[in-house]
Amino acid sequence: MLIVMRAEATDEDVARVCRAIERKGYEPRPIPGGTRTAIGVVGNKGAVDRSEFLGLPGVFECIPVSAPYKLVSREFHPVDTVVELPNGARIGGGYLCVMGGPCAVEDEAQMHEAAAYVAAAGGAVLRGGAYKPRTSPYSFQGHGPEALRLMRAAADAHGLAMVTEAVDHASADRVVEYADVIQIGARNMQNFSLLKHVGRFDKAVIVKRGMAATIEEWLLAAEYVLDAGNDRVILCERGIRSFDPTTRNVLDIAALAVARGLSHLPVIADPSHGTGLRDMVTPMARAAVAAGCDGLIVETHPRPAEALSDGHQALFPSQFEDMVREVRAIADVLGRTLSVPR
Ligand code: PEP
Ligand code: MN
Repeated sequence: MLIVMRAEATDEDVARVCRAIERKGYEPRPIPGGTRTAIGVVGNKGAVDRSEFLGLPGVFECIPVSAPYKLVSREFHPVDTVVELPNGARIGGGYLCVMGGPCAVEDEAQMHEAAAYVAAAGGAVLRGGAYKPRTSPYSFQGHGPEALRLMRAAADAHGLAMVTEAVDHASADRVVEYADVIQIGARNMQNFSLLKHVGRFDKAVIVKRGMAATIEEWLLAAEYVLDAGNDRVILCERGIRSFDPTTRNVLDIAALAVARGLSHLPVIADPSHGTGLRDMVTPMARAAVAAGCDGLIVETHPRPAEALSDGHQALFPSQFEDMVREVRAIADVLGRTLSVPR
């Protein structure tokens, strides 16, 4: 970090900042200039907390030189991380993985039907919520443990891996018994205690970007999971809030490419929550794959009109099939392979 002093800062102000740097165990390197002094901070292992210096007399600004995250950073780990699931599906490193299924697990028939056509279309992972974070307490909240059991059975019957959301410690402890991938939803992206908790599990974790989170905050959320010991993390862009209510969110396509550049972790897109409109899902899925993402997580329902949540954005089975065919062709142009179960 570089601490830039005000033009009118005194020698004592500079000395005070240097002492504060030394107290943190770092080394100050003052660089006197024509109008002001800048002080380089060296010898730090991790990120330096600028708030400790910003308030000192004579300090103008603190400019970070390196990113505040390390474990997720491509700078420290140039090679793509490939997350492999028990059914052989791979995400990242040239493998495109399609995850599909309903927003919520409703009943056995729904999950078996969904698993059958998701697998037949070329999907590798079955999605579905057992614990649903809903805006309204009167909306369907999910069937909990029973949903986990029947979803596991449906996934196994069709060779699919299983991803489902954990909303708190208690649900995470149940989800980890059944799922291959634990989803941290947008609303929980900055639930730091939950991130640390799933960081202790030996299961892959999807960290969805919060609806108002910067890319840096999103990467720092993933950093929590890696810092707790779990490096099987997948980043998911699922749309951010904007002023325009036409689409539910704005799928930030650029963020996919930015995150892949900044991090070695696989990056997937959720065009379902990213648009909230069934007919926009496939166009955005195509765009996301063209932008270089490593996977898609898409809502689809055997009978969307009967869905207990997010039916309006669920693809019909035939639309799901068409989408996978199209993104597979785009992946092919980019020299990527659709990852199917072994
Ligand atoms: C979901 O995947 O069903 C979900 C609630 O997603 P998000 O956290 O992105 O809103
Ligand atoms: Mn949903």
